Amino acid sequence: MNIKALEWNFAKGICSLGGCDTEKVSFTSRAEAIKEAERLTKEGLEPEVGYPCPSCMQDYYA
Ligand SMILES: [Zn+2]
Repeated sequence: MNIKALEWNFAKGICSLGGCDTEKVSFTSRAEAIKEAERLTKEGLEPEVGYPCPSCMQDYYA
């Protein structure tokens, strides 16, 4: 699980068209973000390739 140090968020999904982060989860503190990331990792939940994000959809169908 990858945590961006400045934003305290991570993505639970990956856009199927462009590989962008989708389903971003934001946290107000580092401790919260780490706690949630650890919980998801423990449960074996890694980011999954899901639906395309809105901006890729726009490019794709333009
Ligand atoms: Zn995308």
